[in-house]
Amino acid sequence: MVKNLKYIDVAVALPVFGSYTYLVPEEMADIPLAGKRVFVPFGQRMVTGYVLCESKQENEARGDKEIKTIIDVLDEKPLFQSSMIPFFKWISDYYIHPIGEVIKTALPGGLNLYEIAYYAITDKGKEAAGRKQTVSLEERILRLLEKYPMSVKALCMEMSCDIPGALLYSMEKRKLIYKQKEIKPGKTKEKTESHFFLSGSCFPSCNISESQNKVIYCLKSNRELSLKRLNQLVPGASRAVRVLRDKGYITSCLKPVYRDPFGETISPDIAPVLTKEQEKAVSQIGNYLGKGFAPFLLTGITGSGKTEVYMNLASFAVNQGFGVIVLVPEIALISQMVRRFRARFGECVAILHSGLSAGEKLDQWIRIADKKTPVVIGARSAIFAPLSNTGIIIVDEEHDSSYKQEGGLRYNARDLAVVRAKLENCLVLLGSATPSVQSYYNVAIKKFSEVALTKRVEDRSLPEITVVDLKKNRDSRGIRRYFSEELIYRMKETLSRKEQVLLFLNRRGFSGFPVCGTCGEAVRCKNCDISLTLHKSANAYKCHYCGFTKASGSNCSNCGSTEIKLLGLGTEKVEAAVKNLFPEARVERMDSDTTVKKGSTVKILKGLSEKSIDVLVGTQMIAKGHDYPGITLVGIICADLSLAFPDFRAGERTFQVLAQVAGRAGRGASKGRVILQTYNPEHFTILSARDQDFKSFYEKEIRFREELNYPPFSRMIMIRLSGKDKKKTYECAKAIGKCCNALRQGNKSFQKLKLLGPIEASVTRIAGRFRWQILLKGDDSRPLHRFVHKIMFENAQKICGRNVSIYADVDPYFMM
Ligand code: ADP
Ligand code: ZN
Ligand code: ZN
Repeated sequence: MVKNLKYIDVAVALPVFGSYTYLVPEEMADIPLAGKRVFVPFGQRMVTGYVLCESKQENEARGDKEIKTIIDVLDEKPLFQSSMIPFFKWISDYYIHPIGEVIKTALPGGLNLYEIAYYAITDKGKEAAGRKQTVSLEERILRLLEKYPMSVKALCMEMSCDIPGALLYSMEKRKLIYKQKEIKPGKTKEKTESHFFLSGSCFPSCNISESQNKVIYCLKSNRELSLKRLNQLVPGASRAVRVLRDKGYITSCLKPVYRDPFGETISPDIAPVLTKEQEKAVSQIGNYLGKGFAPFLLTGITGSGKTEVYMNLASFAVNQGFGVIVLVPEIALISQMVRRFRARFGECVAILHSGLSAGEKLDQWIRIADKKTPVVIGARSAIFAPLSNTGIIIVDEEHDSSYKQEGGLRYNARDLAVVRAKLENCLVLLGSATPSVQSYYNVAIKKFSEVALTKRVEDRSLPEITVVDLKKNRDSRGIRRYFSEELIYRMKETLSRKEQVLLFLNRRGFSGFPVCGTCGEAVRCKNCDISLTLHKSANAYKCHYCGFTKASGSNCSNCGSTEIKLLGLGTEKVEAAVKNLFPEARVERMDSDTTVKKGSTVKILKGLSEKSIDVLVGTQMIAKGHDYPGITLVGIICADLSLAFPDFRAGERTFQVLAQVAGRAGRGASKGRVILQTYNPEHFTILSARDQDFKSFYEKEIRFREELNYPPFSRMIMIRLSGKDKKKTYECAKAIGKCCNALRQGNKSFQKLKLLGPIEASVTRIAGRFRWQILLKGDDSRPLHRFVHKIMFENAQKICGRNVSIYADVDPYFMM
């Protein structure tokens, strides 16, 4: 008789492609497993895997390959619904990334078990350790292990060299050493707290302390209380509770607690009456709710009230029992969005972003999975939220490059929002005042429907933008050159009216181009092919790529001269200049140097809203989405910094950041003004930004993209290689290039693909690693992805081995 065995498909959290089949032991056969983690044998190790699906199949259908049995089930409740599995599979396919690692990226960190192997010495090993005179590597290992068992990592550290795996394996075979395994649970666990309630209605009448009496009284009127709450109500409750419980008068149980990431209470707001345009937008989109997949692009100028549209749609969806995901590009904006949503929706808002501790994240995750919070707000990773019955996914500031994850699974959350909506048959709404060329193109080819907001709320006008030609500002020198008369005049005027000024420059630090005054050599990074930036507040030159620092007093490394000229400007220099020009003004700076500490961004933004800051100097951080009505003047110190980047999106990015930063002016009752300083006053990007005219920018830009066959007219995948050894990296790049050429020639469907490279990356070395790239372009995504898939899974590891790292970046954002 053939038993009805239960099999499961498991994605292991390892860099391997595809999923694996395992057998479920009979005693676990009744447990539903999909979406849970299991512990499985894999090769020589034990690893965590995620159950994708179950199947009951007869033995022989499996062929004669030996199927291993799972060791344990790690979760009581599934971590993701089975509806997420097609999403994970899509991501794995499209981004050419192992499915187990996709799921690992999607889940909150710290959940995985890991296994640590220790080596210990056997009696035979002890014998061998003492005998010989010469000290081989093997001998040294044995002598160390004689003291106590050690992990491979500890052994390597102790001996300060690499230990070949083959040696350990052979020593194990010869029974000189053996492996001990230890499994450590993941670091993050659900946090629980004791709750108390009365066991019955009979109470002690005498022999009872004051605090015991109070505890009983509190539990009578509240039914159930946590220990924490009881301690607040009754001093010394802990002891009283213990006594009462031991006597059987009260009962306790453990309940999960949620670490509240909001920290403060927010008072409810009153929804404003929508403008005609907002109302139209809400009904236009809301009409499609619950009727399947439909993608929208909300193009609304800065200050047109897009958030109000999001909130109305969200409440419409929640009232009909749907879930809502709102993606926001970064933490500072999330806190603003969360405040507005919480004021409207109260407790039912969950929040997910990298600023939360692992524990907080897990709590939020569980609350979402338990259907306690129909609204999820978060940064890009919130696209993986375990929300069920999703009605609408909203992506605010959809053009923002922080939706693109660099490192690990290189996904774009904006694109995934559309994919998830399609798979879950719901609405997706991308919103921006400066949409990406890609998204607007999707409107042009009727893939997305455009919904427009063309007016600012309450008839506030757009700021008036004056372009100042920096070329004509020649007579002044140094930093003065960057403060045109017009800008200084307007700043004076604004400050005298007690209004606020925002100064924008897209580069941090003091001097971005320190050069030796004697020999002309630039001060360069030791590890990267790039100039260092002087940071005066840190008294050091810093590398913006690898973090290398060098004391600010250092001499020229070429000629030893002490005379270093500080060319190039950054926000620090601007801040110093403002303090010099306006000694009375309260000046602050917001860039990634001043916002390292947790909470510092919020502090600066609070200063803005409380008007304890007169002038804020900052990088693109200040350009994004913020709504501060006190700002009436925006100064763009030098608009050109990003225009010259060797990247086909340089124009798009420049337009976006300029239009966004200009949009920060005049959001309150008084009119705003923008001084835009530039060396290229005739460039169409600058002109369109001046006119806040996205369409005119798009019309020009799209023609240029078409001519050069750049996205959205083609698809791109970048294969990147890097390694510490210059020659090896170069050779691997050449070898991969050769494979690409051979594959393309040998297969008809690949012949249309364009192959650019291998070439050295624009920044040839970062953090001591030499960098090469191969850019692949295709009109159609399917053959392109199939092609790269073949290269990555059939050739890459064989050619590159351990010393050179290689990965594919699908739809790359940063071309350098
Ligand atoms: P956007 O994101 O489009 O730049 P916001 O959503 O931040 O604009 O809205 C700008 C300001 O206008 C906010 O302070 C918001 O509270 C306010 N606002 C939005 N809609 C209305 C409305 N219908 N009536 C009054 N004020 C509104
Ligand atoms: Zn020099
Ligand atoms: Zn560096």
